[in-house]
Amino acid sequence: MKITIVGSGYVGLVTGACFSEVGINVQCVDVNEAKIENLKKGIVPIYEPGLDKMIVRNLEKGRLQFTTSLSEALKDSEIVFISVGTPPDEDGSADLKYVLQVAKDCGKYMNDYTLVVTKSTVPVGTSIKVKNAIQDELQKRNVKIPFDVASNPEFLKEGAAIDDFLKPDRIIVGAESARAEALLRSLYKSFTLNGHPILFMDILSAEMTKYAANAMLATKISFMNDMANLCEIVGADVNEVRKGIGSDGRIGNKFIYPGIGYGGSCFPKDVQALIRTAQENNYNLQVLKAVEAVNQNQKTVLYHKIVNYFNGNLQGKTIAIWGLSFKPQTDDMREAPSLIIVNKLVEAGAKVKVYDPVAISEAKHHFGDTITYYNDQYEALIEADCLAILTEWPEFKIPNFNIVNKLLNTAAIFDGRNIYDTYEMKKQGFDYFCIGVNTLT
Ligand code: NAD
Repeated sequence: MKITIVGSGYVGLVTGACFSEVGINVQCVDVNEAKIENLKKGIVPIYEPGLDKMIVRNLEKGRLQFTTSLSEALKDSEIVFISVGTPPDEDGSADLKYVLQVAKDCGKYMNDYTLVVTKSTVPVGTSIKVKNAIQDELQKRNVKIPFDVASNPEFLKEGAAIDDFLKPDRIIVGAESARAEALLRSLYKSFTLNGHPILFMDILSAEMTKYAANAMLATKISFMNDMANLCEIVGADVNEVRKGIGSDGRIGNKFIYPGIGYGGSCFPKDVQALIRTAQENNYNLQVLKAVEAVNQNQKTVLYHKIVNYFNGNLQGKTIAIWGLSFKPQTDDMREAPSLIIVNKLVEAGAKVKVYDPVAISEAKHHFGDTITYYNDQYEALIEADCLAILTEWPEFKIPNFNIVNKLLNTAAIFDGRNIYDTYEMKKQGFDYFCIGVNTLT
C-alpha cells in the first residue's frame, strides 16, 4: 500500500513515520524545500522523542520518502492525507487556506481514483469545501476522475506522539462511501489487530469529535484553574482537592492538574474556532467562552505573584526561568504561557535568564536578545532574585535544592506547575509560591 502525507510538521511527520513503521510505503510532501532537503538526510526539524530514529530507520528501508512534488507523490498513491496547519484567523476561526490549497492541488494532479483524507483539525463542514475544491479543479481540466473525501482527525499529544499514534485510544474516521471506508479499514488494519478501536461515522460527526475532545480537555484544565484560584483565597489546598475529586470514577484523575494555563498549537486555537463555529450558527457556547477567559487570566497569575513578592516593582530584579515549551518533551512554544509571562517580566523592567532542555533555539525566535539564554539549569540561577518554573520538565522535579538556594540572591521559588511540596520547600528555607495553595499561612 502506498500513501501520501501532505504537510511535514508535527502531525505529518509522526503520521508518515508511524505508517512506514508498520510497513506502508509513505511519501511525505511539504512546500518547505529546506525542510524536505534536511528530512531526506534524516535531519528532523522538530523535537519529538523517538521520531528522528524512526524516520532514519524507515528512510534506510526505503519505505519513507520526502518530496516537495505533490504531483509526483500522487502518481503512486491511492490515499492522500492532508496534515497541513490550520492556524487561527484574525476572528478566531480556523484558517483553511493551506488545507484548501492542498485540495486544489489534488484536483490538479490526480489521475486515478484518490481518497483525500483530512487529518488537520478543521471546522465542521470543511470536507464539503475540500470536495468542492477538488471537483472545481477536475472540471477546469475537463476530466472525470472518481474520488472520495474522508475525515480522520488526529489525537496525538506532542511529547508522546509516537506512542499515541501507534497505540491510539481510538481512531476516528468519517467516511461516506464504502470504498473510502474499506481503504481506511485496511490502512489501519495493523492497529485494529492490536486491539485499538476504529470508529466509523459520518464526516460531520468526525470533524466535530476532534473539536469536542479538545474543548472538553481545555474545560477540565480551566475548571481546575478556577478551583485552584478559589482554593487559594479560602485557604484550601488544590493539590488535596485534586486527589479528592480525581478518585471519583466519574471525574477521573487525568487532566485535572492546576497550572498557568493551557497553551500549544491545539487547545487555544481549537477552543476559539469552536466558539466561532457556534457564533456562525447563532449558538452561544457559554461554557467554552468562560474556559477561554479563565485561561487568559491564568497565564498571568504567576507573574502577579512575582510582582507582589517584590512589592510591585521589578525594576532591576533578575528572574530565572526554568522551562519555556508549552509542556515537557517538546520544543513547541506556540501559545505557551511562557510567552506572556516572560514578555510581561521584561516589560516590567526585570532581567530574565532562561533555561529549557530543548526549546532554547525556538525561544530565540520569540524573545531575541531581550533575555539571556543558558544551557545549564543552575547557571541560569546565578545572581537571580528568584526562580520561576513554567514547564514541568522531569529534570526540574528533584533538583539539588542546596545549590539552588546558594545560587539565588533570594531563596524564592514561583512554581507554576505545582511540582514541589509546600512543606518540603519551607523546610529547605525557600519562600515558595505555587498555584492554588496559600503558602504564606
Ligand atoms: P505544523 O505547522 O507543524 O506543520 C504544517 C506543515 O504544513 C508545515 O511544514 C508547512 O510547511 C506545511 N504546508 C503548508 N502548506 C502546505 C502545502 N500547500 N503543501 C504541503 N505542505 C504544506 O502543523 P502541525 O502541528 O503538524 O498541525 C497540523 C494540523 O494537525 C493542524 O490542523 C493541527 O491543528 C492538527 N493537529 C495538531 C496536533 C499537534 O499536537 N501539533 C495534534 C492533533 C492535530
